[in-house]
Amino acid sequence: MKKTAELAIIVPCYNEEDVLPQSMSVLEKLRAELIKENLIAETSKLVFVNDGSKDKTWDIIEKAHQKKPFIRGICLSRNFGHQEALLAGLYNTPADIYVTIDADLQDDPKVIKEMVKRYNEGYEVIYGVRNRRDTDTWFKKHTALLFYKIMKLLGVELVANHADFRLLSRRAVDTMSTFKEKNLFLRAIVPLVGYKSCNVYYDRKKREAGVSKYPLKKMILFALKGISSFSAVPLHLITLSGALISLLSFFLMIWTIYGYFTTSTIVGWASLMTAVTFFSGITILFMGIIGEYIASIFIEVKNRPTYIIDKILD
Ligand code: UDP
Ligand code: MG
Repeated sequence: MKKTAELAIIVPCYNEEDVLPQSMSVLEKLRAELIKENLIAETSKLVFVNDGSKDKTWDIIEKAHQKKPFIRGICLSRNFGHQEALLAGLYNTPADIYVTIDADLQDDPKVIKEMVKRYNEGYEVIYGVRNRRDTDTWFKKHTALLFYKIMKLLGVELVANHADFRLLSRRAVDTMSTFKEKNLFLRAIVPLVGYKSCNVYYDRKKREAGVSKYPLKKMILFALKGISSFSAVPLHLITLSGALISLLSFFLMIWTIYGYFTTSTIVGWASLMTAVTFFSGITILFMGIIGEYIASIFIEVKNRPTYIIDKILD
């Protein structure tokens, strides 16, 4: 019989003291169940990555680790962000397969079983995809859908309604680690890794406790990062609109010269003002877009570490 795979469930935690004890016990039970059914190895572990929490999150992880050796803790030196915490967990845990899941367990952990079964069938990248979004607020749902649309228009391949709940084989994680970019947007990087992949579906639940760590500002920055690090379409758009506007102003010029010779009226103040404001608006907007890319280059060129580990509880 084939050797059962060693699973590591990676959970990023940022100020999750309210929900963590509950989530830990759910994942522990799941682990025990999967071991009992001989789907995963007995050495399988739960890895909690503390992303610079200011509350008791790390205490909870430390205590759990002391009692149960299969619970691992990775403590980052400060808050780095969700994506960075995920990578710290993935790249610093030896295992055969990895599942990443949010600490609030909004993504149904029961699906992990199906993911593992899929892995045994030969899939190496398995995306958790939400069926419905009725538990999200109207605003979150619609901004998310708009985001997927824009990304598609910009030519970035994303699995719709998939966040960071997925199973990756060791090989997929190793391949991912060869992507050296600092501007991390994992859900666009994973499809670039390739290998045999599939989706599993589930219903997304409400957060059990605590509040969302993704306020509007973080959401917008995350979306911008996704776009500027993966698509050059906005840059091409600048060229295209520049050409169109130049063409337009050429016709405007002909019309002005024609008016100068045929009528005695002075070219209107209104049209002048409109043109001035319109073009300054466009100019600033486009400079902003260029700025987005320069910001991305700036971050990549510095080549700073993506995360810094303070300590690991093995
Ligand atoms: N998270 C993190 N670092 C951060 C922000 C969030 O590790 O700076 C973790 C958080 O603890 C959770 C996951 O990322 O496990 C997703 O966050 P959350 O559930 O608040 O996002 P939402 O589901 O509202 O999009
Ligand atoms: Mg959540």
